Amino acid sequence: MATTMQEMLDARGAMSATGNDPYKIFLEEDEIPTHYYNVRADMKTDHRPIMNPGTGKPATLEDLTPVFCEELAKQELNDTDAFIEIPEEIREFYKMYRPSPLVRATFLEKLLGTPAKIYYKFEGGNTSGSHKLNSAIAQAYYAKQQGLRGVTTETGAGQWGTALSMACSFFNLDCKVYMVRCSYDQKPFRRAVIETYGASIVPSPSDTTEVGRKLLAEFEDHSGSLGTAISEAVEVAVTSEGYRYVLGSVLNQVLIHQSVIGLEAKAAMDKIGVYPDIVIGCAGGGSNLGGLMAPFMRDKRLGNPAPHFIAVEPASCPSMTRGKFAYDFCDSGQITPLAKMYTLGNVFRPSPTPAGGLRYHGMSPILSQLFHDGFLDEARAVEQTNVFDAAVQFARVEGTLPAPESAHAIRVAIDEALKCKETGEEKVILFGLTGTGYFDMYAYDAYLNGTMTDYIPTDEDLERGFATIPDFGLE
Ligand SMILES: *Cc1c(COP(=O)(O)O)cnc(C)c1O
Repeated sequence: MATTMQEMLDARGAMSATGNDPYKIFLEEDEIPTHYYNVRADMKTDHRPIMNPGTGKPATLEDLTPVFCEELAKQELNDTDAFIEIPEEIREFYKMYRPSPLVRATFLEKLLGTPAKIYYKFEGGNTSGSHKLNSAIAQAYYAKQQGLRGVTTETGAGQWGTALSMACSFFNLDCKVYMVRCSYDQKPFRRAVIETYGASIVPSPSDTTEVGRKLLAEFEDHSGSLGTAISEAVEVAVTSEGYRYVLGSVLNQVLIHQSVIGLEAKAAMDKIGVYPDIVIGCAGGGSNLGGLMAPFMRDKRLGNPAPHFIAVEPASCPSMTRGKFAYDFCDSGQITPLAKMYTLGNVFRPSPTPAGGLRYHGMSPILSQLFHDGFLDEARAVEQTNVFDAAVQFARVEGTLPAPESAHAIRVAIDEALKCKETGEEKVILFGLTGTGYFDMYAYDAYLNGTMTDYIPTDEDLERGFATIPDFGLE
C-alpha cells in the first residue's frame, strides 16, 4: 500500500496517543546477561542425538572435536546445564553493541490502526547488520582459547561471514569464508566488508575443494546453497592444521549463544511490566527465533502462561511447513553428521531468493523437536512480494530498513496486528528484527520496479529433494 506524507505524520502523532509508554526500552550495560540459557536442559523430549553416519551411533565428543572447537562441541552435546556462564571477555565485546534496544513500534501500530501493542527486538545495530555477531564473538573466543590459528565457515546472504570476520579480527584469528555463489555475485560490497575485517572469501561451489569440484562437474552453473558451502568449509577445516569449522545457525551451540536476544527482551519487557501474547521470528536455521523465544519457552516448559510462538519461513524454502521430520545430512556434500530435523532434503536447491539467510534445507533440531511436540505452536510460510509489502510499510513509518529475512517476521506481526484490529484484542506482539537490509537493495529494487516474483516449489520439486534424505534406518 502507498503511504502518504499525511499518514506518516499521523503515525508520528501516535507518540502522544500512547501516553507514557516508552518508545525504546534500554537496559544498562551491566544488564547484559551473565549466562546463556540452554533450552535443551528444560525440554520435555530432547531432540534425537546427532548421528555419525560412519558408525550409525550418536556422535561423541571425539567425533566432533576434529571439526569443531572443543568447548563448542561440549556445548553442542550439553543437555543438562540450563545456564552456561558467558565469559567476561565475550561480555566485554558484547558491550560494543549490546544491550540491543527493544522498540515499541508505535508508528506502525498507528499506521495499521490496531489496538495491538507491537514490540521488536532490534539486532541490526552493529556493522555486520544482524544478530549473527552474538554467536560469532562467542565462537571466535572459544577458538582462540583453544589456541587455534583460524576458522572456516560458509555464508549465505553474507551476514554470518561479515559477523565472523569482525569477531575474528577482535580475537586475531584467521578466517576463511565460503560464500554461496549467487549471493557473492549479487553483493560485491559484502565481500569488500568481509575483506576489510581481514578474512578471505571464496564463492561456492569452488574448485578449491574436492566436494566443490564434484558439484561443478555435475551442475556447471550451480548457484550454490548453504548446504554446498558448508561441505566446502568443513572439508578445508578438517584438512588444515590448526583450523576448525564454525557455523552461524542450526546448531545447538548457536541457539545457546543467541539466547541473549530473548533474555534481554524479557528483562526489558519486565521493566515496563508487559509480557508477550505472541512471539514471532523468521526461521532460516532457527537461531534467532530459538534465541528470542528461549526464556519464554522456559515459562512454557515450567507450566506457566506463555506466548503463542510463530516461526515464519519463505514459501520458496518451506522446511517446517512442507518438509519431513527425519534424519538428514546438514550439508549437500553429505560429509556432516546426521541430524533429526525438518528438512527438504540435503540437495534441495532453493531458488535464489533475496532472503538468502533463510535458504537452508533443514532446521535447528531443537526448534524441530519443539515444533514436533507442539511447544513451538505454529509455522507459517509467506510469499516474497507480501514480505516486501511489509518491509516497505515498516521502513516508511519506523525508519529502519529491514533485512529481507527480518521482513518475514514483520509480515506476520502485521497480519496478527490486523487480526487484533478486527477482534478489538489488545494483544502484545513481540517479533525479532534481526537485521538491516542495506546489502539487499537489488531485492528492494526488484520489488519496487515490479519484477519480483513469488516462486513456490511444486510437490514434484519437493519430492526430488526428499529423495536425497538418506535411509540409515534411524528413527
Ligand atoms: C541469518 C539471518 C537470519 C536467519 O537465520 P536464523 O538462524 O534462522 O536466525 C535472519 N535474519 C537475518 C538478518 C540473518 O542474517
